[in-house]
Amino acid sequence: MDSIERDVVIVGAGASGLTAATQLKKAGLSVAVLEARDRVGGRLWTNDIDGATLEIGGQWVSPDQDALIETLDELGLETYSRYREGINIYLGENGARRTFEGEIFPVAPATEKEIVGLIERLDALVAEIDPDRPWEHPQAKELDEISFRRWLETQTDDEEARLNIGMFIAGAMLTKPAHAFSALQALLMAASAGSFSNLVDADFILDKRVKGGLQQVPLLLAERLGDDVHLNAPVRTLRWDESGAGESGVTAIADGVEVRARFAILAVPPVLISRISYDPPLPRRQQQLHQHLSMGFVIKVHAVYETPFWREQGYSGTAFSPYELVHEAYDNSYHGDPRGTLVGFVSDEEADEVFRLSPEERKARILESLSHYYGVEALSPVVYYESDWGSEEWTRGAYAASFDMGGLARYGSDLRAPVGPIHFSCSDMAGKGYQHVDGAIRVGRETAAAIVAAVQP
Ligand code: FAD
Repeated sequence: MDSIERDVVIVGAGASGLTAATQLKKAGLSVAVLEARDRVGGRLWTNDIDGATLEIGGQWVSPDQDALIETLDELGLETYSRYREGINIYLGENGARRTFEGEIFPVAPATEKEIVGLIERLDALVAEIDPDRPWEHPQAKELDEISFRRWLETQTDDEEARLNIGMFIAGAMLTKPAHAFSALQALLMAASAGSFSNLVDADFILDKRVKGGLQQVPLLLAERLGDDVHLNAPVRTLRWDESGAGESGVTAIADGVEVRARFAILAVPPVLISRISYDPPLPRRQQQLHQHLSMGFVIKVHAVYETPFWREQGYSGTAFSPYELVHEAYDNSYHGDPRGTLVGFVSDEEADEVFRLSPEERKARILESLSHYYGVEALSPVVYYESDWGSEEWTRGAYAASFDMGGLARYGSDLRAPVGPIHFSCSDMAGKGYQHVDGAIRVGRETAAAIVAAVQP
């Protein structure tokens, strides 16, 4: 077992941990990053699948994500726009197929009125929420006691309007059914992107991609950190000193390496914090609160075709339906690849359902759903790939973690509170950029700044 000493040990080489390590090193502190996997990036992962470059985890960048955009600039990474020329497709109840441009789905005028009204009310409520402190909203407790689904039922009797608005937060963002999270959690999700309207606007939220894939961010950060990043080093035990002020506040014991440091940053999804043994145990509050967060669950499906056939038919590749197995899909053709790629998402209970099927049956069901939008050509991709983040030991779901009902108001303010020398950093703990790479970077920077401030005389 190698034994090393550093100022700060960082557990997890995702965007958040690597950002924190980079900032600490810039401030003159020594670091060691311990990563469980044999690669860096965590939920950012670009892979070659049967000759196609696919982004299996996070990929899109929106214009408000300034921490991420600054990092892309610093690293010299270039972006390109998601293909979006042409008309979009919406499937109503019973598969009624309609096309549209802009953000509002082509629904009956009465339903459209309800959708517009709901968006206005949500935007107004979101404007009152500080994404870094949603629990401080005067109605935080009430909003955290009602499920988003029930809240929508109090706002409109129009089922299609409820399903569409619900889909934007439930299937498309928190990747949990709308009965499983609170209205406050939904408002945080929207506030983290600036407004509910921003979340609904695919041209905003799914604006750009990075040439070479978004995993370039952690890959380049890790390259600069060099030997300070240790792969295949899952941290199993963290010994810590309650005073936190000593020269050796923590000892992180990973497979093959042990790091003694003044501070630790746990840069892992909050659901994985309790997978580490602590000596002494974490305080009561942390032991409790980590039980009230869980990962959402979504399958990100890629289908690559010889040509982007939908473009020739005038379609953008953007498609939605709250009634379909694949509830949203986009043109996801990779920069420089002449072939056409569609990406679709199968969320929460529908993902559970298709994972009960054999791989062949699941593929057939998912492609059939894509064919409802794009026609029979969608049934025959040359490359097909389903992400399976639920099976990844060091992630356990997708996209990210959120609180159960009542958890955000009850525990949210303590989620990032340090415990002695132990700090916490992850996109799933962010306000602005929550559940996104931008949030991972923001929290990484803030956590590093807090440690730098603590060591300065
Ligand atoms: P992670 O990336 O989860 O990093 C945590 C790291 O800790 C991992 O590398 C893990 O292996 C490691 N680890 C865990 N436990 C231990 C341990 N005990 N010891 C050592 N190491 C450990 N975001 C966007 O901005 N845009 C998108 O388009 C987007 N799409 C997404 C699509 C999918 C399918 C998924 C899964 C995510 C998506 N996201 C997107 C979210 C984004 O990828 C994450 O928010 C972000 O990458 C999280 O970074 P992180 O560093 O906070 O956590």
